[in-house]
Amino acid sequence: MKFRLKLGFVSALALAAATLGARAEPVTDEMLLNDATNTKSIVTNGLGTQGQRFSPLKQVDKTNVKSLVPAWSFSFGGEKQRGQEAQALVHDGVIYVTGSYSRLYAIDAKTGDKKWEYDARLPEGILPCCDVVNRGAALYGDLVYFGTLDAQLVALHAKTGKLAWKKEIEDFKGGYSMTAAPLIVPTTAHGALILTGVSGGEFGVVGRVEARKASTGDLVWTRPVLEGLMGSMNGKDTTMTGKANESWPGDMYKFGGGAPWLGGTYDPETKLAFFGTGNPGPWNSWMRAGDNKWTSSRLAIDPETGDIKWGYQTTPHDGWDYDGVNEFISFNTKDGKKLGATADRNGFFYVLDRTDGKFLHATPFVAKISWAKEIGKDGRPVYNDDNRPGDPTKGADGKEGSQVFSVPSFLGGKNQMPMAYSQNTGLFYVPSNEWGMDIHNEPVAYKKGAAYLGAGFTIHTIFDDHIGSLKAIDPADGSIKWEYKNVAPLWGGVLTTAGGLVITGTPEGYLMVFDDKTGEVLWKFNVGTGIVAPPIAWEQDGQEMIGVAAGWGGAVPLWGGDVAKQVKDINQGGSYWVFRLPQKTAAN
Ligand code: CA
Repeated sequence: MKFRLKLGFVSALALAAATLGARAEPVTDEMLLNDATNTKSIVTNGLGTQGQRFSPLKQVDKTNVKSLVPAWSFSFGGEKQRGQEAQALVHDGVIYVTGSYSRLYAIDAKTGDKKWEYDARLPEGILPCCDVVNRGAALYGDLVYFGTLDAQLVALHAKTGKLAWKKEIEDFKGGYSMTAAPLIVPTTAHGALILTGVSGGEFGVVGRVEARKASTGDLVWTRPVLEGLMGSMNGKDTTMTGKANESWPGDMYKFGGGAPWLGGTYDPETKLAFFGTGNPGPWNSWMRAGDNKWTSSRLAIDPETGDIKWGYQTTPHDGWDYDGVNEFISFNTKDGKKLGATADRNGFFYVLDRTDGKFLHATPFVAKISWAKEIGKDGRPVYNDDNRPGDPTKGADGKEGSQVFSVPSFLGGKNQMPMAYSQNTGLFYVPSNEWGMDIHNEPVAYKKGAAYLGAGFTIHTIFDDHIGSLKAIDPADGSIKWEYKNVAPLWGGVLTTAGGLVITGTPEGYLMVFDDKTGEVLWKFNVGTGIVAPPIAWEQDGQEMIGVAAGWGGAVPLWGGDVAKQVKDINQGGSYWVFRLPQKTAAN
């Protein structure tokens, strides 16, 4: 009798909450950890904390995809446009998507109606390096989180968009900003933590990963990625990252960059969070002899303690701005090996043992790589020494070193746009770019808030007919199974589905669907502006929906040199598009 009463009380409360519309259905640990298989919602960046971007949906397949039609389109509005790089989340019938200039929208997933909008009030003088982008939100409990261009972490009530709390990650005047989607990780010791990295690798920032309580935003642990700096927990020192001066000269590590600006993934099987780290500061490598750990690396971090469990450096002593931030994606082989793969800015596709970081193999995924001959069996690059930009102190006037032409360009064989892994084909689908750069070094000194490069550069094409290249890569041996060439550089992420589809967007404005086995183009639709964001698929009232943010921008038009001139006529925009198969027509 008592039990019944209790139940009645709880359901009455639930009913009251639903009637008043006061609370969103809370996102739980289980929802986060099962996100890859629950098709009705998407509560993580990457469609699952491992970041595979594989949807088990197969209603839209190779035979019917040509019938896709728009369901709705939502405008981000205002005069603020520029690059839209965000992956959307879907929960409880609501889409949460971030827009340029640190905006967040809640949209009815069925109709495209706006529920609320949050505009961060950005101060004068923010220092985003590579456009005013944001790459997505995070959900936990009844809060929705995102990072802003002035380096704040914002938590809003998911139902109303009202501010719950706001924390300063760092002083934006020092070159810090935040553009990545935060990562929520359930822990035993601290409950759910929200893990973030900092942006600002071009300003000599201190790259670090931090964990805060998802409920309150209180700082739990910090992990600087530069060797010689001390981590902390609850305000007390924990362990030093590496050893001071083991891979850095003098005090260069104190503003050595390594910004983990693209965020992380979490693997529940090994209980490790994987973060990539950006370029060392300054770009001029002659000023910092040594490997400069842990810049241009992948790190496995224990979310309980913030300690580094293993590190693997893709570009030791980087001299080309080959940030190592690209996503590290967990996958298992048929015989149960726990591996991870990443397609690096430096043009090589790496496969590691994700339990201990052991190097397995690396193969080129773009043509004409010039900075290294290969990645040796020990996992270290075999450099082409004459392709490192020359030492400026040895230049004719001591101000400019010899110029070299390096491939890939500093915008990378692959940049921020995430790849996808299909559990059907066992292949990775990698959005890549084929380009090179003239680069030379100059002297430079660290100054807070000023660009810390010591380099001059211009990007050039290397093929007449294309820059972008979507590739299907077999992680067993790095072989390329098919390739789709695109005239403009690819800058949007990839989704793959159990329906046998590979979906991505182009700067030319096409959302494109490919056959996952052959690379044949099955369908395309022009959304009227460039696509530089990753698509998603979810199930809405029994229908498979495919969504993507549209809006041209990002680093290419700002830093693309010759390529920027080539794409200057692409129109800006700012909208969210959703597609589905046609509703049954009123034929009878
Ligand atoms: Ca960089």
